[in-house]
Amino acid sequence: PGEQMSKSETIELRNKIIGKSCQLFYKNDPLKIVRGKGQFMYDEEGTRYLDCINNVATVGHCHPKVVQAGSSQMSVISTNNRFLHDELIKCAQNLIERMPHDSLSVCFFVNSGSEANDLALRLARAHTQQKDIITLDHAYHGHIISCMEISPYKFNRPGNIDVKKPDFVHVASCPDVYRGKYRNIDHPNSKLSDLYANDVKKIIETIQQNDKGVSAFIAESLQSCGGQIFAPVGYFEKVYEAVRKAGGVCIADEVQVGFGRVGTHYWAFETQNVVPDIVTVAKPMGNGHPVGAVVTTKQIADSFAKTGVQYFNTYGGNPVSCAIANAVMQVIDEEKLQENCLVVGNYLLEKAGDLMKDFELIGDVRGMGLFFGIELVTDRKLRTPATEEANFIVDRMKNVHKILVSSDGPDDNVVKLKPPMVFDKENVDEFIAGFKECLQHIYKEKEKFIALTASSQIPCSLTLSAAKISEKRDRFIKSV
Ligand code: PMP
Repeated sequence: PGEQMSKSETIELRNKIIGKSCQLFYKNDPLKIVRGKGQFMYDEEGTRYLDCINNVATVGHCHPKVVQAGSSQMSVISTNNRFLHDELIKCAQNLIERMPHDSLSVCFFVNSGSEANDLALRLARAHTQQKDIITLDHAYHGHIISCMEISPYKFNRPGNIDVKKPDFVHVASCPDVYRGKYRNIDHPNSKLSDLYANDVKKIIETIQQNDKGVSAFIAESLQSCGGQIFAPVGYFEKVYEAVRKAGGVCIADEVQVGFGRVGTHYWAFETQNVVPDIVTVAKPMGNGHPVGAVVTTKQIADSFAKTGVQYFNTYGGNPVSCAIANAVMQVIDEEKLQENCLVVGNYLLEKAGDLMKDFELIGDVRGMGLFFGIELVTDRKLRTPATEEANFIVDRMKNVHKILVSSDGPDDNVVKLKPPMVFDKENVDEFIAGFKECLQHIYKEKEKFIALTASSQIPCSLTLSAAKISEKRDRFIKSV
């Protein structure tokens, strides 16, 4: 392991032999990561990066107990799940024990979040004998066609002919109380859950008016691609009730937010006081190894069995994946990582909240445990997205401070943190110091811009670099 060719060679070969659409972080200056430990990653020159991006490395990069569990199982046997194996049974037991309700009692194993959601759709269809499904705006549920079809984050993109929104997919408003359809500046907090839940109820009525039935409602309990969205209290309870009344089932996608990250609970849906009919899990379950699962009720699993179509997934639930997942769940308990998320997440909330007092650019700070978002706006009243600034900060955090964060949301103006769950208060201090410097830099640049432009009345915005300022200024001068 380690570096086998120079970074420039890696880039050159990647450009030649890997599909152009394969996404890279920092695509103009990508990172070559050669090893990881805990909450840190190291590039080919040995530079250390504080990892605030990797919710996949749940218990920390290369946790020795997880590595040991995987490698010792690999040295004994790894085969498909058509043979009996105790690691698979233990893994199912581990997942079921961690569910808050006895009804969630049957498991299926898969290799990824996309596979988990695809199987969840099949289970829902088999159980309800219906196909119509309700998803939330900006949601992302996976890269395979069935998941892309329920992912407004991806479908109907210009030029994308393979994945258009099918008629059986219905999109409800994303319950974003800060910049969504119903905002907390326009409506009292107590009304927001009804307003957003009514959107779903209207969709259900439309489905029924068209003589169709509801198969499922699918949502992340805290929406990640929407820009770290926390639905108003009571929203999911109201939606689940309406969906079930219409005969549909409720699917909670816990692919990003499960396994204790939210701090107060093991699963994010618990923060909304609901019990789903189907739960999909993946990413954090393997600490970097591909493994996922679907947990559901006996009734739904039996409906699926009644179709007579046997379920087989070559790698899903192989002994190595299951041994790894078992070790991950054990480490989360032993090292009290859920509790750590709560304590460190609250500290982060407090420190980021302090920054808000000094920097108008921060419009909203929201987080639950170590699932965290800082929404940047150029105007706090209008909540105008500060996309350019968010992107600038993501790059500067990496280049200057060696801290990895990402941005997301429909306007790409939310700086997101979802670090390994071993993240500590010292790491928060490091993040906050870096973030503050980035904000100060933007403000200094803005002052320079105002000084430069005052005489010629150039429309002023937060601009990001001296080069950009003069480019904008030249363009403006040319245009008048
Ligand atoms: N659901 C959610 C909420 C996700 O964030 C993702 C991946 N980002 C998926 C599903 C798909 O998971 P995978 O990439 O493992 O297929």
